[in-house]
Amino acid sequence: MSRRSLIQGLGATAGLLAAGVVPAFVSAAMALGSESGGEDGTGLEYLTEEDGAVNYPGHTVSYADPPGDESWAMVIDVKACVGCRKCVYACVEENNIGRNSAFTYIQVLEMPLGSMELEHGDVNYKEGGRPDKWYLPIQCMHCSEPTCVYGCPVKATWRDPDGIVLVEYDKCIACRNCLVTCPYDARHFNWVEPEVPPEEVNPEVPLDEKAGVVEKCTFCVQRTRNGGTTACTEACPVGARTFGDLSDPDSDVSTLIRKRRAWRLKEALGNEPAIWYVG
Ligand code: SF4
Ligand code: SF4
Ligand code: SF4
Repeated sequence: MSRRSLIQGLGATAGLLAAGVVPAFVSAAMALGSESGGEDGTGLEYLTEEDGAVNYPGHTVSYADPPGDESWAMVIDVKACVGCRKCVYACVEENNIGRNSAFTYIQVLEMPLGSMELEHGDVNYKEGGRPDKWYLPIQCMHCSEPTCVYGCPVKATWRDPDGIVLVEYDKCIACRNCLVTCPYDARHFNWVEPEVPPEEVNPEVPLDEKAGVVEKCTFCVQRTRNGGTTACTEACPVGARTFGDLSDPDSDVSTLIRKRRAWRLKEALGNEPAIWYVG
């Protein structure tokens, strides 16, 4: 069988931001993952093509293995970002985030010009595009030193060789230690069973039929391991997001990081995030 990571019946839920922040149609989420566990040390089961049926709700999805020596990274140009949240909405739709959930994988902070203090950021801003503000999108950083993984007592979350940090819903015991050990508030707990209209379900992404698991950004593993880019990158109308392979010195992400004096959030903590900022 071709080696495919199976993400079992877990699906997604995700969410809706605080009331009024994200339109009602935009909520939801999901995730999966591991660094050590079942067959091949991944913690996941593997499916044959025949086994890889996708059903709704709680359907099973097969993800491709890391393709090679890739080391995925994203660069976000905060000078270009206008805070429109189109990335947020695209992520919700792509990743089966529950339309009734209370979170989204991306949070965009509206920051006062000249301030880098995250506590001064406003996630509940109305429209974006204000000349006296700048906008800082935050999501899972896919850290090389993922303290969330270290905090999980049951190995329900792990980092794959291409750098993508995933969660396996069926293993998650809802202890939420990973929420505490993530310094970026990038993980979200789905308190309610996610609701996604059947006609809007993305069959390429797991859909959780239960509440009580942790979800977060997956770097759109269903796309990126198959040669595509992330939904948020694709949706950004101003090209503020660039996704690519950091192991390739000529890739766009490598070039941007090298030439634009890139920086990372909370660098001093040592998590070694795979999301860089420029601008
Ligand atoms: Fe910023 Fe692009 Fe997201 Fe809009 S879609 S908030 S410009 S990153
Ligand atoms: Fe884990 Fe948080 Fe880093 Fe994502 S940002 S890999 S959830 S520690
Ligand atoms: Fe959402 Fe995919 Fe962007 Fe992560 S990479 S925030 S899962 S759209």
